Amino acid sequence: MIDAGKGQHSKAAVVDALNPGQAGESDHNYHDYLREIMDGLSPSVFVGLLTTGGALLYANRAALEAIGGNHDKVLGKHFAATPWWAFSASLRRRLRKAIRQAAKGESSRFDMTLRDSAGRLRVMDFTLHPVYGRQGQILYLVPSAHDVTDRIQAEQALRMTQFAVDHAQGIVFQMNADGRVRYVNESACRHLGYAREELVGMPVHEIDPRIAEGDWPALWDRLKAQRSVRLESIHRHRDGHGIPVEISANYFEYEGEEYSFVYVDDISERKATEERIRHLAYYDSVTGLPNRILLCDRLNQAIDSAGRSGQQVIVLFIGLDRFKLVNSVLGHAGGDEVLRIAATRLVAAIDQTDTVARIGGDEFAMVLSGPRAVDPTRTARRILDAIAQPVDVAGQELFVTCSIGAAIYPDDGTDADELLKHACTALHRAKAQGRNDVHAYTPDPGGWDPEWLPLEAGLRKALQRGEFELHYQPRIDLRTGGFSGTEALLRWRHPDKGMLLPARFIPIAEETGLILPIGEWVLQAACLQQRVWLDKGVAPAHIGVNISARQFRQPDLARHVARVLQETGVDPCQLEIELTESMLIQDVDSAIHAMSELKDMGVHIALDDFGTGYSSLSYLRRFPIDTLKIDRSFVSEITSDQSSAAIADAIIAMAHRLGMTVIAEGVETTDQLDILRGSGCDHAQGYLFSRPLPADALTQGLAQGLFAT
Ligand code: C2E
Ligand code: CA
Ligand code: CA
Repeated sequence: MIDAGKGQHSKAAVVDALNPGQAGESDHNYHDYLREIMDGLSPSVFVGLLTTGGALLYANRAALEAIGGNHDKVLGKHFAATPWWAFSASLRRRLRKAIRQAAKGESSRFDMTLRDSAGRLRVMDFTLHPVYGRQGQILYLVPSAHDVTDRIQAEQALRMTQFAVDHAQGIVFQMNADGRVRYVNESACRHLGYAREELVGMPVHEIDPRIAEGDWPALWDRLKAQRSVRLESIHRHRDGHGIPVEISANYFEYEGEEYSFVYVDDISERKATEERIRHLAYYDSVTGLPNRILLCDRLNQAIDSAGRSGQQVIVLFIGLDRFKLVNSVLGHAGGDEVLRIAATRLVAAIDQTDTVARIGGDEFAMVLSGPRAVDPTRTARRILDAIAQPVDVAGQELFVTCSIGAAIYPDDGTDADELLKHACTALHRAKAQGRNDVHAYTPDPGGWDPEWLPLEAGLRKALQRGEFELHYQPRIDLRTGGFSGTEALLRWRHPDKGMLLPARFIPIAEETGLILPIGEWVLQAACLQQRVWLDKGVAPAHIGVNISARQFRQPDLARHVARVLQETGVDPCQLEIELTESMLIQDVDSAIHAMSELKDMGVHIALDDFGTGYSSLSYLRRFPIDTLKIDRSFVSEITSDQSSAAIADAIIAMAHRLGMTVIAEGVETTDQLDILRGSGCDHAQGYLFSRPLPADALTQGLAQGLFAT
């Protein structure tokens, strides 16, 4: 009869219990039995007996104790009106209704929440059902209640946990032993971009593409053995992008089933930071190229694999020429821009497998292996060309060249340091020998490094010691065939090394600034010599003097020239100052200003080495140039190469239209001479007529009628 099920009790049994006489038990009263049974129930089970009108006839001990054991207060009273635990008004209404319904044969069951005498909230699973008599009439009503507070609290706790997990920031999966998702929380749905219904049941390999379809059983076994596994992997978002994750999976069994809880951390940001740090450590911040550390790493790798396959590795050391100047003209931001442009061009010049790095202010290095290592000179030439293309920085067109030193594994070194050092030495030699060129490393004992210092020391004293002299190379007028001028070329009679050519010492003089006093001396010596020739009546129409970039930038150059001309009594129009293109285009406005000052005095201006730079004639027309000197490298090609001859033709014609006189330099053969003459070239200079000679030798030659065609 205390069965809580609705209407499942047998009517007969209940009636028997309530009518013990008829049940045949005599020695012990059934009521007593029942009372004992009910009083002996667990203290959380309350049972009572009501009249069909709801008056309380009986309550078991647990129930009475719950209200302080006071029978009088409750027995005979209407159940809903008893001073039971704090019944609320609505609960009382509900009980009255349940009593009315039970009186009509309808059982009730519901949870009632109330406060016990100690003030604690209790949840009771309450039932009320009727007890029938023989004729099926309702005799009594039986209320029963048992305390389910603990169960309800546990359920509530579970729901709260579920809620907390569902809404947790962290990403949580629950996996079944078959490798499919059993549960995901909302963060997990957001993390992967799916709805929960789509994720539940999804096989793990669709989420983590690193797990192959058949791999799961082995992974599960490992998890089972280790109980927990932590690893990094990649998750695939619904839109296809990969998300770096850290996974920690725990294995557990519950009621005979196996599961895994998987906690996932999205580590995209950490990975990005790591990548940034790695980038800072191994890459140059200005150009984004690898730095020296990474280059050495790659070089060592290349050496390793070349060593095995017997191939060679080329290291190119590339220095931008006169980068300090670029920086001082454009400022650091402009300088950085030039570096970035250079970097892009260098990257474009090599294969993807090769490395280019920035390893210092204006220095880059390349490691070439594979196909480009077979023909390094060609790659180097491509680089020279690429760098020499005009650069546009802040609306200013700029011309930058580079020099390249090359070292080869295994010939020039067997490790990264040695190869880089030797490539660097070769670079310095390339720079010393005129820049914008490539130089291969040679282990020359009289090579650059050992030579530089003693030469520099000697150079400082050479002026006082009178070790410099000028040689003069005659220039021939191609129309008349006569002697039309000379170019003064500097020589250093070194006390130990003998006669040194300018290529050996001019770069040092430029670098150290000694070029300024030396240049002054040259100008003065050349003008003095012209004075001598004037006095002898054999003076050439023009005497050419080379001016270095540094000299050209001296603000008082024109004044100095004027003074020398005045002191020597040479007519300004006999002096021809030779400048090169790179001197003009680095700072166009100042160059035009300096040239105009000289022009205004009547001094002639020649553009030297034309054809080695990159400016077009129409660009150069902005400068007040009288004479164009076509470079030797160009002249030497005109006989071998149809297009060079055509270009020479076009240059000469155009120079004439611009009112310039044209001199061909380095003419060595009569074939060259014929072509030049055919193109209308005005003058020529070169070994065909004469090498540069000491003044006396030239004077003698003139007297003998040499140097004419
Ligand atoms: P540059 O002004 O182009 O001088 C012409 C160079 O070509 C000279 O070399 C000359 O000897 C050489 N040359 C002339 N004809 C021929 C030829 O037919 N074949 C060949 N292979 N070479 C020929 P050098 O004297 O060694 O001078 C080299 C450079 O040094 C000059 O090139 C010039 O840039 C510079 N230089 C010479 N003297 C001075 C100077 O007093 N001051 C400055 N700043 N630079 C100078
Ligand atoms: Ca010259
Ligand atoms: Ca020249």
